[in-house]
Amino acid sequence: MADYKAPLRDMRFVLNEVFEVAKLWAQLPALAETVDAETVEAILEEAGKVTAKSIAPLSRGGDEEGCRWDNGAVTTPAGFPQAYQTYAEGGWVGVGGDPAFGGMGMPKAVSAQVEEMINSSSLAFGLYPMLTAGACVSINTHASEELKAAYLPNMYSGVWAGSMCLTEPHAGTDLGIIRTKAEPQADGSYKVSGTKIFITGGEHDLTENIIHLVLAKLPDAPAGPKGISLFLVPKFLVNADGSLGARNPANCGSIEHKMGIQASATCVMNFDEAVGYLIGEPNKGLAAMFTMMNYERLGVGIQGLATGERSYQNAVEYARDRLQSRSPTGPKAKDKVADPIIVHPDVRRMLLTMKASNEGGRAFSTYVAMQLDTAKFSEDAATRERADSLVALLTPVAKAFLTDLGLETTVHGQQVFGGHGYIREWGQEQLVRDVRITQIYEGTNGIQALDLMGRKIVGNGGAYYRLFAEEMRHFIKTADAGLAEFTQPLSAAVDNLDELTNWVLDRARTNPDEIGAASVEYLQAFGYTAYAYMWALMAKAALGKENQDAFYASKVGTARFYFARLLPRIHSLTASVKAGSELLFLLDVEQF
Ligand SMILES: Cc1cc2nc3c(=O)[nH]c(=O)nc-3n(C[C@H](O)[C@H](O)[C@H](O)COP(=O)(O)OP(=O)(O)OC[C@H]3O[C@@H](n4cnc5c(N)ncnc54)[C@H](O)[C@@H]3O)c2cc1C
Repeated sequence: MADYKAPLRDMRFVLNEVFEVAKLWAQLPALAETVDAETVEAILEEAGKVTAKSIAPLSRGGDEEGCRWDNGAVTTPAGFPQAYQTYAEGGWVGVGGDPAFGGMGMPKAVSAQVEEMINSSSLAFGLYPMLTAGACVSINTHASEELKAAYLPNMYSGVWAGSMCLTEPHAGTDLGIIRTKAEPQADGSYKVSGTKIFITGGEHDLTENIIHLVLAKLPDAPAGPKGISLFLVPKFLVNADGSLGARNPANCGSIEHKMGIQASATCVMNFDEAVGYLIGEPNKGLAAMFTMMNYERLGVGIQGLATGERSYQNAVEYARDRLQSRSPTGPKAKDKVADPIIVHPDVRRMLLTMKASNEGGRAFSTYVAMQLDTAKFSEDAATRERADSLVALLTPVAKAFLTDLGLETTVHGQQVFGGHGYIREWGQEQLVRDVRITQIYEGTNGIQALDLMGRKIVGNGGAYYRLFAEEMRHFIKTADAGLAEFTQPLSAAVDNLDELTNWVLDRARTNPDEIGAASVEYLQAFGYTAYAYMWALMAKAALGKENQDAFYASKVGTARFYFARLLPRIHSLTASVKAGSELLFLLDVEQF
């Protein structure tokens, strides 16, 4: 496997030249105090070093060794505890955390780049800090001041970790039917009882305490999603002076044996009258989780991108070295027995598909991160509301589209290696196994598509959609004539998406099955159109500079490839959506 090199040049390009983030930060007083260009540059450089040097080398061994369970204790692979300590001591767990409790206070647009680097280095390792940071978002937004002060500083500093306990054996997508119970106690705490499964980082040896955020039902809770509350349940109780107290009965019953991310402990957690504390209001637990979910879902999308990037870096190195056959236009490496496979059109197609997907994904995830920052920090209510709407609309796209393309690009990277891509030694097969989960957890991609189509499009008559479409049209209308080769196909793609959106809105009025029938292909058509907007923005920032630096020439070339070879996928997706729902119900259940 090639050594991982953080794509800092592209990250800087996206942040500074495409989106000019400093301008946004200057408008957000809370950020103006914590962020400046120099700090961001230092963060990117340092994160690039720590992830490449301390974490990436553990990925292969972590996959081979996996996690071990012994009588309730979970041991992570060799090197993980030390690497976690290094990562935590660098302040990386709290990179986006609230400075009032010891976080670094970086905007999401910056922490998103750090997330990409850590997940490219090792997806399994990256999950531990990611879950901790996600738990912190929920605690900081919804918990009492007392809980925040007691838990956040040790979580941001990485001394304690976090976990998210939602799923139960009979309840995954449908959290409204969970059975875990919380009984109120005289001292204001609760006793939480129930079994959760598939809990990432539910138990491990990386930190001295683990803070579980657990969804449970109060005794008088209404049935369904409106009867769920959120509780903070520590592995070790915390004394008034901050020291660790008694072991709480929140135990790991076993860990799962699974396809990939072997170094991430996926735990069955048994809560047996464990002491817990309510976060937010009773029965409003799902709302409290949703605050975290927007961050977490974008983070999972970034995992897809991160794995695709790692696969790409390996594939490029291999394609330059591997000698097979001659170029169709005549030998290129005449001194060698054959040409490097990078001369072949099909290998180039795969590499360019990967490059275009990764760079489009990096721009899109940064764009969504900027909307999250605006929604959180803007002092203007209308600006906040607009950004909130865009976050709601684009989060399911970021989660599902980045991970769908993440799998596609990771598999292309495996294919470039031919048979060697299927063999352990080269690392590509691990990446394929690892990335697959990103389409499944944090809400399957089918559920993301349903969220987009049902709640975020049909649910508001297309209002959020129109905000995004108007922004794209404004860009097209005000762009220089020199950008026409990009803005014209972008304009046609937006027209197509408008038409498709209206088509579904119209059909959904009389048949609710149209929403679920259209949703996955609609989300993908949306994703390709959104990436076309990203690629047009990137082309704008690079055009005219091609002679200055090969980076810009490569950007413009990749933009051309995206518009000519990937954007046309919207046509087949559109045709599939318009096939409607009836075909899906032609067969009786017995006919399958
Ligand atoms: C490695 C791993 C780590 C995980 N980490 C965590 C964690 O840290 N915390 C946690 O709480 N959970 C975690 N999960 C659980 C994960 O989030 C769930 O597996 C996922 O949300 C899907 O739930 P399910 O497995 O019960 O599938 P189901 O809900 O049973 O879904 C099965 C299929 O039916 C489809 N489906 C269900 N309902 C609908 C519908 N209404 N319309 C259309 N299609 C539908 C789904 O898309 C899916 O394809 C993890 C899972 C794994 C495998």
